[in-house]
Amino acid sequence: MSKQKYPLLTISSEIEQPYNYSLGRYGGRLLKELKHNKKIVGIKCPKCGHVYVPPRQVCGKCFVKMDEFAEISNKGNLESFTVVYFSFLDPETGQKRPVPYGYGRIKLDGADSGFLHFLEESDLKKLKIGMRVEAVFDENRTGNFKDIKYFKITKERNPS
Ligand SMILES: [Zn+2]
Repeated sequence: MSKQKYPLLTISSEIEQPYNYSLGRYGGRLLKELKHNKKIVGIKCPKCGHVYVPPRQVCGKCFVKMDEFAEISNKGNLESFTVVYFSFLDPETGQKRPVPYGYGRIKLDGADSGFLHFLEESDLKKLKIGMRVEAVFDENRTGNFKDIKYFKITKERNPS
């Protein structure tokens, strides 16, 4: 008995899925500082001193509530990175982000955790672990993570 092959049926359509997401006090503080002051804030654990950015409510090591916000430098070291060659739909715009683009984990000066963001550079030959990078802020900030356009490579030497 031979297997019957059926043509693959495809349907194209668009689905609208609006939603709101509450950032709470901690996320809201970070985005307000980005928008109004071009500053990145983190939060410091009162028990172990670990500084998290973005700020979060509870220390993942000590399980204590944190309330002490800390201004973090807009410069740091590139801890890891990737270059994206597949264009995804941006959930905020619904448009595909042009490729290639760099995306990295940055350990900002004054923070103990990594901060994920886009990189200006997308050439794998020019990106190196440990290189110094600096946030570049958008001139038209609206209170979201894209208020930082990307992190650019600086000529600074790694202080550590
Ligand atoms: Zn802690």
